Amino acid sequence: MKIASWVVRQAATPMVREVREEAAGPGEVVVEVAGCGVCHTDLGFFYEGVPTRRPFPLTLGHEISGTVVETGAGAEPWLGRAVVVPAVLPCGECDACRAGRGQVCPRQIFPGSDVDGGFGTHVRVPARGLCPVPDLGDRAVNPLGLDLAALAVVADAVSTPFQAIVRNEVAPGDVAVFVGAGGIGGFGVQIAAARGAAVVAIDVNEGRLEAMARHGAALTLNPTGLDPKQLRRRVRAFAEERGAPTWRTHIFETSGTPAGQLTAFGLLGHGSQLSVVGYTPKAVELRFSNLMAFDAVARGNWGCLPEHYPAVVDLVLRGDVALEPFIERRPLATINDVFEDVHAGRAPRRLVLVPER
Ligand SMILES: [Zn+2]
Ligand SMILES: [Zn+2]
Repeated sequence: MKIASWVVRQAATPMVREVREEAAGPGEVVVEVAGCGVCHTDLGFFYEGVPTRRPFPLTLGHEISGTVVETGAGAEPWLGRAVVVPAVLPCGECDACRAGRGQVCPRQIFPGSDVDGGFGTHVRVPARGLCPVPDLGDRAVNPLGLDLAALAVVADAVSTPFQAIVRNEVAPGDVAVFVGAGGIGGFGVQIAAARGAAVVAIDVNEGRLEAMARHGAALTLNPTGLDPKQLRRRVRAFAEERGAPTWRTHIFETSGTPAGQLTAFGLLGHGSQLSVVGYTPKAVELRFSNLMAFDAVARGNWGCLPEHYPAVVDLVLRGDVALEPFIERRPLATINDVFEDVHAGRAPRRLVLVPER
């Protein structure tokens, strides 16, 4: 079928709308895109020289929801289903996948890096790992004001912190600290709160902190003017007031900034677990021995295993994780302006590009 998508021909140069022919191969589907979220990873590819795995020309976009409109051999049962396309699609068959480590599957598909992504009318992806979602209909009639386009952010911004929280084994009553309360961090705050954690949100943006105070954060902190020791003491005092275990604090770096990474590392105490969920190509200088001195753990987190997606969708459909206050829909045709807005910090919410019908 004929599909139209916005193609990056050259980094930091306006994307161009192109029409091409696509057909679902064996085990593949073509999804009619309902929405595709704009992630900081896309900006990294576009502006900062972070290489995509398939070089440009390429269509970006890995935060996709939509409806399956064409199926290849073996994928027929998907026809007509509403789906969220996980940002990381492991092959499901290699040694890593069989060991439950699909995040590092060497044959994984990341739309908008390995193959053309979701900033188009349609996208061709493997059927394996797709997450079926209910047909939400029009957002005017949905009790949560949701539609299929809104669920696009489940593909990455909601599921990735979910995976990090699961891997850290955040338990009810634990303290979970999020450094950076933007897209990924904001959803992380809500997920950790839904799991019963006592959540601390740290951000330099007061507006974000206010939003987090209404959506799960028991304590909000602006690090401006606080040194790392003061910040650590505030978090520790919060844990003690709540009777939370101070030897099992979970710290999530969700800002994707060097300053945020320094703040997160500075919060490490005895037994802390640091999970790096945000991304920046820039480097920071750390005293790595703190990990040894504190018997602490630091790990990264890439995407989310497809098997966790139904649980993430449940959190959203139950209203435990609010999407609407944190997203904004924009027409796909405005993609070049949207990238500029996000890059310039002019987009307080996660922007979801919606193709014109
Ligand atoms: Zn992303
Ligand atoms: Zn694999």
